[in-house]
Amino acid sequence: MSELQARPLPVPNADTAPFWDGCARGELVLQSCRQCGTAQFPPRSLCARCHAPAPAWRRASGRGRIASFTRVHRPPSAAFKAGLPYVIALVDLDEGPRIMLALRGKAAEAPRIGDRVKVGFDPPAGPHGIALPHALTEGP
Ligand SMILES: [Zn+2]
Repeated sequence: MSELQARPLPVPNADTAPFWDGCARGELVLQSCRQCGTAQFPPRSLCARCHAPAPAWRRASGRGRIASFTRVHRPPSAAFKAGLPYVIALVDLDEGPRIMLALRGKAAEAPRIGDRVKVGFDPPAGPHGIALPHALTEGP
């Protein structure tokens, strides 16, 4: 395998397309149950809490707190070699759901559980224009 191998990108489907469309606009959107109001991630065709169908999409704050993190020194594939080492975190969003994000910039220097972060987005890439979300140190 070539070391220039492109990083794999998600392929949107009927459940996830609104999420990826939001990322491409620079907005974090989450599903919110029309019945019980629970916000959820990852996207699903129904509410994971009460099973009501067709959750609504709402713009989220894009802010949260680091629940856990790891610094990656061995890439899962050659496609991730160029960014080594990098930090992956589980972030508890202010709306409730937990999301896995790469930490970037100052947020990745010396992360601590509980640190506040905000979501940013990579430039759209690949055939579906996927703008991967990442987390930065929360600022004003
Ligand atoms: Zn519900």
